[in-house]
Amino acid sequence: MSAFDDTKQTIEKAEQILYKTYNRFPVIFDHGKGVFLYDTEGKEYLDFGAGIAVCGLGYNDPEYTAALENQAGKLLHISNLFYNQPAIDAGEKLLAVSQMDRVFFTNSGTEAIEGALKIAKRYAYNRDGHGGHEIIAMKHSFHGRSLGALSVTGNDHYQEPFAPLLPGIRFAEFNDLDSVKALINENTCAVIMETIQGEGGIYPATEEFLKGVRALCDGHDMLLILDEIQCGMGRSGEMFAWQSYGVKPDVMTVAKALGNGVPIGAFLASGRAATAMVPGDHGTTYGGNPFVCAAADKVLEIFGTREIVAHVRQVGEYLWKKLDEFTAKHDCVVDHRGRGLIQGLEFDRPVAPIVSKALLENQLVLISAGTNIIRFVPPLVITEEDVDWMIEKLEKSL
Ligand SMILES: *Cc1c(COP(=O)(O)O)cnc(C)c1O
Repeated sequence: MSAFDDTKQTIEKAEQILYKTYNRFPVIFDHGKGVFLYDTEGKEYLDFGAGIAVCGLGYNDPEYTAALENQAGKLLHISNLFYNQPAIDAGEKLLAVSQMDRVFFTNSGTEAIEGALKIAKRYAYNRDGHGGHEIIAMKHSFHGRSLGALSVTGNDHYQEPFAPLLPGIRFAEFNDLDSVKALINENTCAVIMETIQGEGGIYPATEEFLKGVRALCDGHDMLLILDEIQCGMGRSGEMFAWQSYGVKPDVMTVAKALGNGVPIGAFLASGRAATAMVPGDHGTTYGGNPFVCAAADKVLEIFGTREIVAHVRQVGEYLWKKLDEFTAKHDCVVDHRGRGLIQGLEFDRPVAPIVSKALLENQLVLISAGTNIIRFVPPLVITEEDVDWMIEKLEKSL
């Protein structure tokens, strides 16, 4: 039997076993090295998806892998009833690069959002002595699939089958300060937004908007929650995207590239938000265990020693130039947006999934965001030569 028949059979089997909430591409990846992936048939792919903006250091980085192996041989899990050194080390590094005051480790992005929402509610409860508070979120946002995170995700299609969701969520227009202002009342406790909208189509917040929302939050004693799960961890060309805006959030969420592939997220809080919740208010069995924290600690260490953020800025600029040229050459591409290594091309029609599929056949992994936009979120360690090769494949496929 050929390798191709093997793949076909395995996929058929998968469809009988796995709960079907995804339409997957017909590829089974086996291993990776650097910015390349290899499928079970031995075919090599250039990766511009990084497992949805997760594998910032690429695949099989020797130093990172050694750190996992070392921790696996010592202690995987101990629960949050006890202290563990990797959590303290990773936490210390995360606070240092974010200038936030406290961190809570979670298992995923959506759980980080749940924690952030709970801080907002707890903060307002402490402030007012009662519950029933409201949160302002953005249209076209994405914050995750658990019910709290889904409640602040501005996407009717994702929300509708699961209503009723959290009460008291109001949706404003992203980058429209007046639309935020109009939703504020005495019960509003927070504004939540992505600094750069990811799934919604790679829309960076304007400086005027983010500064304006910060001022509104200060004026009304509300918390500003910035979701940096996709755009954070160096991807924007800053360690966290908000750092280029001259504002600071009260609460920030991270995940995706924090663990480079092991499931870890975090919510971080500063100032008064950092003490809003008290013992008993929140918990997790796995969150912040020694294994995933050893991974995050090593990731953060490598960010320093290899100057990953400076690299992103440099290669991101190169990607920007190349994609601008590409946009100018092709009438079907109507917009080019983003920062650093989170960029998107918008087509004049809903062809993004078809483009992704065609690119995959040409051994390039590139994912879509919505139906009109293809999204460039490669490993942060890609080089200019990788960009050139990607553009070549893109030209060929189009
Ligand atoms: C991916 C993502 C999430 C959800 O993270 P999960 O780990 O999938 O739960 C939340 N917010 C943003 C901006 C994301 O990109």
